[in-house]
Amino acid sequence: EKVSVGKLISEVVDSFQTMINRKSVEVEIDVDPELVLKGNYSLVFSIFQNLMENALNYAGENITISIKHYLEDDKFHYFAFSDNGIGIAEEHLSRIFERFYRIDSGRSRKLGGTGLGLAIVKHAVVYQKGEITVRNRKEGGLEFLFSLPRFIETK
Ligand code: ATP
Ligand code: MG
Repeated sequence: EKVSVGKLISEVVDSFQTMINRKSVEVEIDVDPELVLKGNYSLVFSIFQNLMENALNYAGENITISIKHYLEDDKFHYFAFSDNGIGIAEEHLSRIFERFYRIDSGRSRKLGGTGLGLAIVKHAVVYQKGEITVRNRKEGGLEFLFSLPRFIETK
């Protein structure tokens, strides 16, 4: 399935516009609006939707969220989804893709999610043959790097 990921990202960001304004968040998108890839629309949507929701819920206010298409090779497109917020303590970082894993900070407790979002993100990437990693940026905040397959035109 051909997925217009450039448009999909704009749709996801637009759907959070009220929250973006309320939290004085800046969103930088560095992805060609015409970019396409090979994947399942709902799965790709769930990746960007969950990362966006998390960044808005947990990273803090007055932050910048950045979505970049930073590389491509013959098989994959590479994306960086990052924020410059509070990040995640290193001891939790290796577990955040696990189902039901949440960090018991005041912020998460108050928001009461189920801890499935990042497990879904990871499965959605891996199911589509990509890879995903996460790290704390040295400047502060979280950075997710992930790959998704190129759309190759066949005739
Ligand atoms: P759900 O997504 O099911 O509603 P959730 O958001 O708690 O619940 P995940 O999306 O898997 O679950 O996220 C796991 C935990 O990682 C969150 O509870 C939060 O503590 C932390 N987290 C996720 N993204 C960020 C971020 N951008 N900055 C800081 N902490 C984050
Ligand atoms: Mg979540």
